[in-house]
Amino acid sequence: MRMTSLFLRTLRDDPTDAEVESHRLLVRAGCIRKVASGVYSWLPLGSRVLRRVEQIVREEMDAAGAQEVILPIAQPLELWERSGRDAAYGPLMFRLQDRKETGFCLSPTAEEVVTTTVAAEYSSYRDLPVNLYQVNWKYRDELRPRFGLLRAREFLMKDAYSFDVDVEGLGVSYQEMYDAYHRVFTRCGLTFRSVEGEAGEIGGDVNHEFMAVAAVGEDDFVWCKQCDYAANVEVARRSAEHPAHHAVVPAADAAPVEKVHTPQLPGIAGVAEHLGAAASELLKCIAFDVDGELGLALVPGDREVNEFALARAVTPRKARLYTDDDFAARPALPKGYIGPGYEGAVLVVADPSVRAPRGWITGANEVDHHVRHVRLDRDFRVDVWADLVTIVSGDPCPNCSGPLSVDRGIEVGQVFQLGTKYARALGAFYTDERGDQHPMVMGCYGIGISRVVAAVVEEHHDEHGIAWPAALAPFDVHLVVLPGKGDAADEVRRTADALYDALRGAGLEVLYDDRDASPGVKFADADLLGMPVQLTLGAKGLARGIVERKVRASGERNELALTDDVLTVGPGELRAAVGARDAWSG
Ligand code: ATP
Ligand code: MG
Repeated sequence: MRMTSLFLRTLRDDPTDAEVESHRLLVRAGCIRKVASGVYSWLPLGSRVLRRVEQIVREEMDAAGAQEVILPIAQPLELWERSGRDAAYGPLMFRLQDRKETGFCLSPTAEEVVTTTVAAEYSSYRDLPVNLYQVNWKYRDELRPRFGLLRAREFLMKDAYSFDVDVEGLGVSYQEMYDAYHRVFTRCGLTFRSVEGEAGEIGGDVNHEFMAVAAVGEDDFVWCKQCDYAANVEVARRSAEHPAHHAVVPAADAAPVEKVHTPQLPGIAGVAEHLGAAASELLKCIAFDVDGELGLALVPGDREVNEFALARAVTPRKARLYTDDDFAARPALPKGYIGPGYEGAVLVVADPSVRAPRGWITGANEVDHHVRHVRLDRDFRVDVWADLVTIVSGDPCPNCSGPLSVDRGIEVGQVFQLGTKYARALGAFYTDERGDQHPMVMGCYGIGISRVVAAVVEEHHDEHGIAWPAALAPFDVHLVVLPGKGDAADEVRRTADALYDALRGAGLEVLYDDRDASPGVKFADADLLGMPVQLTLGAKGLARGIVERKVRASGERNELALTDDVLTVGPGELRAAVGARDAWSG
């Protein structure tokens, strides 16, 4: 494609409403344009990327045995009333009426339609399993559309739905989708992990969210850079091989408990500084309410208590951390000076790191006083041991002891075991070998295709622009011609035209900057648009018989000999010399 005919205007300035890099760069690079809040047009460069993501998804869905369908975007509200989701979606759903005042909605997802579709065609155990998917626009009237494509009101989603005879079958279908998702996001060049959703919250159904690591993500999660371990912060654990567990007892810690005066120092940092100790040498005692009584949660002074972990540890009793009101209601409790032996505490829960064989500095259960050389078993008891600390970056992975990282993630996909909810509500039953009827067992699987485009830009960009992974780039090669003003200008243009033809002849997709613009403008645009390889031909290079090659992502440069490497070799070698999509790892 010649840039002189490409429908493209790049922008030097950031759009004023853009808060995140992907939004800024996709607009500046002329990939998308806003039409309304959370609604975008996809211009040629953007639509090429969107189609490539779509194609990867399609290939992996087909390979996993799912079959493509196209379901309506305009859906009768009546179906949504039958499943009860009309009310559940509420204002998130775009609603409309036809001329007969029949209610419709714009599909935010498609469980209802796909379930009734399968119910109408299939009724025997012999028909199952089946997995149907579509790639289609979805509509959600998000409360806060923002971050460009990341939280849009119109977005492209791949949604798949599996139907099995039983839960075992569902497990197999689910695993196939789960594996396909790993291949999709790997091929898209994303750093991602799958995170298991909290079972309790969603009624025991298994589900995983696929998180692309990104500072602008909306969910905190913990992941290991060395293995596949990933978890929500609420459920994340660290390895028991924590160095704190193996600390050597300093001789002084064997000493008897000693009370120290710490006036007006109710905070960990202040006490540590006053006593010349590290925060980790203090024992933090956090008050919590357990079914109306007082409990204490113990963690080292440099750590925080994970309230979710605490709640799990005391189940079926209910726990929540003390608020100011709770403290006000218990004036005898010396806030800031609480120690593990506080008499009013009915339950003491501690993190395993509190087992470290050392004497602790902790509250003396008396205002303005702390104690030191306080030892487990000798000076205080623990009723329940449980992983309590909030994970921080650098904690050891529970699987491989590699360093965990706490980051934010963008949910690019989700796989979910639905069970029989929709089948029952919408009448998707099958007859087994004995003639008995059962509801079909369903799973649903979504990928935010347009969101993936933005997530990829979040990961693959620098201050100059986008650096598309080869698998998604709108074009393989960005060819820049710099004819200059000299005598060689025509010759440079002719050679560049020939190079353009040769590259396309070799099966490469080429964006050819044949515009009458300055080198500065052309280079800036090439970096902004982000094709994986840039080739530049100018008068000086032509005189030397070379074309300059730059790899956009790494900045690595080399020269290709025009006669030997580029113009006279066969297509295969030319593709290899340039670093074509298939010779490229992305
Ligand atoms: P979120 O929690 O981000 O609102 P969700 O869990 O409601 O998403 P699902 O119903 O699981 O979304 O939809 C499947 C996929 O569609 C999501 O994993 C996400 O990638 C994408 N998606 C959902 N909402 C949006 C949106 N407003 N804009 C772009 N993509 C979206
Ligand atoms: Mg989701």
